[in-house]
Amino acid sequence: MTTASSSKRIDPILPGSVIGVLGSGQLGRMFAIAARRMGYRVHTLSPDIDTPTGQIADREVTSSYDDLDVVRYFARGVSVITFEFENVPAAAADAAAEYAPVRPAGRVLHTTQHRLREKTFLRDNGFPVTAFRAVRNEADLRAAAEQLKLPAILKTAGFGYDGKGQSRLATIDDGLAALREFSGDMILEALVDFDREVSVVAARGIDGSFAHWGVIDNTHRNGILDVSFAPAKVTQQVQSRAIEIARAVLEALDVVGVLCVEFFLTKSGDLIINELAPRPHNSGHLTFDASATSQFEQQLRAVCGLPLGSTQLLKPAAMANLPGDLWDCGEPNWSGALAIPNVKLHLYGKQDPRPGRKMGHLTALAETAEEATRL
Ligand code: ATP
Ligand code: MG
Repeated sequence: MTTASSSKRIDPILPGSVIGVLGSGQLGRMFAIAARRMGYRVHTLSPDIDTPTGQIADREVTSSYDDLDVVRYFARGVSVITFEFENVPAAAADAAAEYAPVRPAGRVLHTTQHRLREKTFLRDNGFPVTAFRAVRNEADLRAAAEQLKLPAILKTAGFGYDGKGQSRLATIDDGLAALREFSGDMILEALVDFDREVSVVAARGIDGSFAHWGVIDNTHRNGILDVSFAPAKVTQQVQSRAIEIARAVLEALDVVGVLCVEFFLTKSGDLIINELAPRPHNSGHLTFDASATSQFEQQLRAVCGLPLGSTQLLKPAAMANLPGDLWDCGEPNWSGALAIPNVKLHLYGKQDPRPGRKMGHLTALAETAEEATRL
């Protein structure tokens, strides 16, 4: 659903302009596909070469995010900067902002790239999160374990994805072992006994307009998202509450762009925020084939100051990730998958199919989400 608001007027960045993307993975790739379709040019900056985004972009700049002179040079050549990766250092976002608008703003990244800052922000703004404590050393860990009770989950505060940098602690000895492995700021989180995990991917325009794709149901395997489907099988009340929370989060952070709120849905029907992603999200990939406007086109519209598009779900859909493990016995059987007419294949152009690496995804469209999931 999309709602408009008309407080601020800023001249839009129109087709033909160059959009700068910091980061170069599959999220940037699908953003670049959407942007090029609408007549924009795309430049991407990351430390890598021949990247999923770079293969589609007009220009691929290879540099460390810490080389602020290159970041400034990059920003001079574009009309707006956005992200596909939230772990870009704040200094890089600030340097880019000297030459081009950065959307969402660097402070959104700063908050959401660090689990402790993110959870503290959410708690202090009255959003539901699980109990947590900051952990930097053994004494903190012992005190936190005493207060929250084990089992609990210890996570590194920065740079976690796909369940990396996390350890489930049954005993304090598990915690001491994890401390030897992890470094820097950490967070101990009380375990949530959830019934399922759901997400809301939403967008906010420069004028405060808001759009969302409803509630998406997510199943994880080995800490990595496996299958998502929409619409999620949740009550109308959960649906409304999740969307209300997502809207409030985008407003509290003053997001311009796309942000995903990952939730736990408890057995008693309560929603608890797990984490935020200040960019398109894996659970929203199905919007590429199933919605009037995908999360990637919406990010483009939002950061360019254009009206947000309709987020209507044209068909129930399911998305399955394709991890590198599927390549263990050679190239997967694409003909077999594509023999089902309503299945769409997305591959990200990655050369090295390591286990657990997200190589692509399949989207299935059907009359119901259950049927799409079965395909
Ligand atoms: P991703 O990149 O897939 O979003 P991540 O590495 O950022 O993952 P989280 O989303 O924090 O990590 O955790 C990954 C998964 O671990 C969650 O989706 C959930 O299944 C489980 N998990 C994380 N925190 C908790 C918790 N406090 N209680 C119960 N389960 C949890
Ligand atoms: Mg997560």
